[in-house]
Amino acid sequence: MKTAIISDIHANLEALQTALTFIKSQKVNRIICLGDIVGYGPRPNECADIVREVCKTCLLGNHDEAAVGGASIEHFNDYAREAMLWTREQLRDDTTAYLKDLPLLIDDSPGVAFVHSTPVAPQEWNYILNSFEAQMQLDNAENQLKLVFLGHSHIPIVFSYNHGPIMGRKMQLDLDNDRYIVNVGSVGQPRDGDPRASFVIWDETENTIEYHRLDYDIFGTYQEIMKAGLPRFLADRLLMGQ
Ligand code: ZN
Repeated sequence: MKTAIISDIHANLEALQTALTFIKSQKVNRIICLGDIVGYGPRPNECADIVREVCKTCLLGNHDEAAVGGASIEHFNDYAREAMLWTREQLRDDTTAYLKDLPLLIDDSPGVAFVHSTPVAPQEWNYILNSFEAQMQLDNAENQLKLVFLGHSHIPIVFSYNHGPIMGRKMQLDLDNDRYIVNVGSVGQPRDGDPRASFVIWDETENTIEYHRLDYDIFGTYQEIMKAGLPRFLADRLLMGQ
């Protein structure tokens, strides 16, 4: 059983299409999206259409929630707020209806969960940025979670309960003795200094997770951002992966 897990697409159609073309070649059994389909980027409806079609499940992200008016954008930075006001104008009614229906968290097989932000109080949109926070989440989450896939920070990293942060392209999981929080990174707006699209393929049979990083047509997205009249900063940051 192989699952591709994508997150934080942020209306970046070029990045999403590149990721999905690769994922198709990997013969996965299902694709799960961890949310933030929209926000920042220039192609919100198109990205939502594709996610709807190809993903078995999609979770709600804070930008998706804000786009459908479910959350205040006062705490968004200036660029995010400007892009969100633009996004709200662009969304078709059926896209809005789709985003409104997305769940905050889903339990998968026993001990496994998918969520955009955190397994504890996902609607608060907190971040998990270090091992201490990861341990706290695993200690306080319901259902004795052993493996949580999430996004939100746009930083690809695995936190092992026993060993702290682990970096690497492919990792063997030891679910009998350890517990993990896996941040899959961002397809459409990576912020770890690497501008390539990031996502994960989880192989349940082998008990492995593998990160994939793919170059995509960043300049195509760059031009669309400028054409849409969105802030140039949002285009520039894609080039830097920040
Ligand atoms: Zn995001």
